[in-house]
Amino acid sequence: MIEVNNITKIYDGQRALDNVSFSINEGEVVGLLGPNGAGKSTLMKILTCYIPPTEGEATVCGHSIYEDPLAVRREIGYLPEHNPLYLDMYVREFLDFSAGIYGLKNRHDKVEEMIELVGLTPESNKRIGQLSKGYRQRVGLAQAMIHDPKVLILDEPTTGLDPNQLEEIRGVIKNAGKDKVVLLSTHIMQEVEAMCTRAIIINHGRLVSDDHLKNITSQQLTEKFHHVTM
Ligand code: ADP
Ligand code: MG
Repeated sequence: MIEVNNITKIYDGQRALDNVSFSINEGEVVGLLGPNGAGKSTLMKILTCYIPPTEGEATVCGHSIYEDPLAVRREIGYLPEHNPLYLDMYVREFLDFSAGIYGLKNRHDKVEEMIELVGLTPESNKRIGQLSKGYRQRVGLAQAMIHDPKVLILDEPTTGLDPNQLEEIRGVIKNAGKDKVVLLSTHIMQEVEAMCTRAIIINHGRLVSDDHLKNITSQQLTEKFHHVTM
């Protein structure tokens, strides 16, 4: 579903990604784990075709990021870091707008389906600016899933949430992971254990470990993470 081959990104002489390669198959929920500045957001922006890599190739569902970026974007639902939303818009108005961008036909039904799916019903008559951070994240997830993409790319989807909101958003993501490939980033190891089937650790732009969680204990993963990021 996702192939990343020898991706390097250099910003003004600084190497943000250094020869990163991995592939993700159907049914996987992958946590991209790394400290701040590791290169997580850069990798996600490349996969979603917001910025080009300096070197390397990536494909999503067989479409090249160079040759067919529109096809890549159609396959992906993306929740960017800091979840940019139009705060003056009403929840339904924004989701309808998002559905319009993808040219969906049954927009009204899709919007209602998403509101239900991410648990927005009690807050669905409000403006986005009136919502708590947890509910704003739900709007971001609904926006990302509205065109029923095969791949979800979520950049730090749980950062800044309180413990209750955290549990609920994890639930929504796990649920989405049942029929989508998910790549999510986090700098907190427990997040990966709570939601993912696989942990890819990056540090200083390099992929330093890649394990299926069924093959590694929590303690081993903790030790690895501390070891590589110290
Ligand atoms: P993460 O998401 O893991 O925190 P980023 O991908 O945002 O990491 O950043 C990786 C490195 O690249 C950091 O050192 C960051 O300062 C740098 N960087 C990110 N975006 C830019 C940019 N647009 N221009 C210059 N440097 C950048
Ligand atoms: Mg980031």
